Amino acid sequence: MPATVVWFYNDLRVGDNEALLAACRRGAVIGLYTWTPSELGDRAPGAARRWWLHHALTSLAASLEPLGIPLVLRQAERAEVAVEDVLRETEADAVYWNKRYDPAVSERDRRIAASLRRRGIWVAEYDGWLLHDPASFRTEHGDAYRVFTPFWRRFTRHTPPPPRPRPTGYFRPRWHPNSDDLAAWRLLPHVPWDREFYPTWEPTEQGAERAIEQFVRLKLPAYARKRDFPACEGTSRLSPYLATGQISPRQIWYRVSTAGTEKQFAEPFLRQLAWREFAYHVLESHPNLHEQPLRAEFRHFPWKDIAMSDLRRWQRGHTGIPIIDAGMRQLWRTGWMHNRARMIVASWLTKNLQGDWRIGEQWFWDTLVDADPANNAFGWQWVAGCGADAAPYWRVFQPLRQAKRFDPNGDYVRRWVPELAQLPDQFVHEPWLAPPEVLQRAGVKLDTTYPAPMLDPVESRRAALAAFAAFRRSNGQ
Ligand code: FAD
Repeated sequence: MPATVVWFYNDLRVGDNEALLAACRRGAVIGLYTWTPSELGDRAPGAARRWWLHHALTSLAASLEPLGIPLVLRQAERAEVAVEDVLRETEADAVYWNKRYDPAVSERDRRIAASLRRRGIWVAEYDGWLLHDPASFRTEHGDAYRVFTPFWRRFTRHTPPPPRPRPTGYFRPRWHPNSDDLAAWRLLPHVPWDREFYPTWEPTEQGAERAIEQFVRLKLPAYARKRDFPACEGTSRLSPYLATGQISPRQIWYRVSTAGTEKQFAEPFLRQLAWREFAYHVLESHPNLHEQPLRAEFRHFPWKDIAMSDLRRWQRGHTGIPIIDAGMRQLWRTGWMHNRARMIVASWLTKNLQGDWRIGEQWFWDTLVDADPANNAFGWQWVAGCGADAAPYWRVFQPLRQAKRFDPNGDYVRRWVPELAQLPDQFVHEPWLAPPEVLQRAGVKLDTTYPAPMLDPVESRRAALAAFAAFRRSNGQ
């Protein structure tokens, strides 16, 4: 029997991998990963995702080896060429992959599948990226869901299929084609900004398994209580593993649902997983989600041009608003930011600075290890007020109120903005209000050791509210 090529993308795991399992049931298998940044354009993985990808591919190759399956790496202008080359070199007669919902590749995949089928190659696509396929999971009128609450209601009534077992056996192909040297792809940075990534993450499938186990054992019962407090580390931190497919939503769903934890503890977590699913259902009907606001009137919203120096202050965590700087520095140093902080920093950019949400989306795309085509664009549109089921336009987070509520002792700020660590709780979120002797005792010199606020948070919030109200009036709302 000729071999089967399994074409990996964002499913870099051996467990619960339908395409891989089906190929192994057929006989010899060749794993293929194509690296085609020019084909993906500005949706090619950003720097942080590339770091993760390098390690994920190394780990996948090691996991496939005991099964006798080589992981062939091919860089190409177009994936189609690489797939065809490997088919020819190995005399394989079938290509399997898990269906991808990333708009940067889904149209390409359809084209490639059609072209291969025309040439008599057996092509099969499997599920695994989502719990429910958007094509069949629809409202009773047959439309895509646009509001989360009914989506969630339906979601809770449908149990997803269980995860598939890992393949067992030996599937070595007769032909072992050449593979690129991963180092030659230069996915790792030249400048070592990734130092803190190493102690923070274990970017392997085993790392994902450990993360879910630890989460279920130690954090799940308190998830609902702690998930909004960035200093608590009460969330699963599974997002980068989901983004690379080192764990599947089915594996997470089943592990959490069968943990023996009471429903009231599991449900708030599963609800968040359903937000990921919802974002993908929205993306399926709006493939330009990272560019086009879902609410059409926002196409004409007068976003302000932000001076490069101001944008840099936001990006690097030097805005002078400690909670925002903490979030942005956590992102810069570890490639991840707590969800509460993501909302606060996104609100600062889009509301207080009235900057275009797409600038923020792009920065997150480049710096997040979990950068995700649906969740990222969805999250930004939600905060900016132009998205599906979005925060209403008048929801302009007051960063200081948010800070005091969700980081009451300033632990998150102290962790990521150490120059403020010695300030008493009372001033850690508003150092500009501290009397000179308090600042001096804490070793803080405003505008020298730590910047004064780039913008008055209260005044700029008021201006944002006025701008959004005027926009709403101009749209006759
Ligand atoms: P947990 O709280 O443990 O949740 C488990 C999983 O549920 C997450 O891994 C994620 O897949 C999903 N989830 C949780 N919260 C959300 C949410 N609000 N929306 C959609 N899915 C959610 N998430 C990404 O995975 N990639 C992104 O690029 C991304 N960009 C975002 C940008 C903005 C502006 C905002 C406000 C949110 C963004 N999110 C993104 C959603 C959310 O912040 C992260 O999923 C979450 O912080 C990941 O941490 P966790 O795995 O510990 O989450």
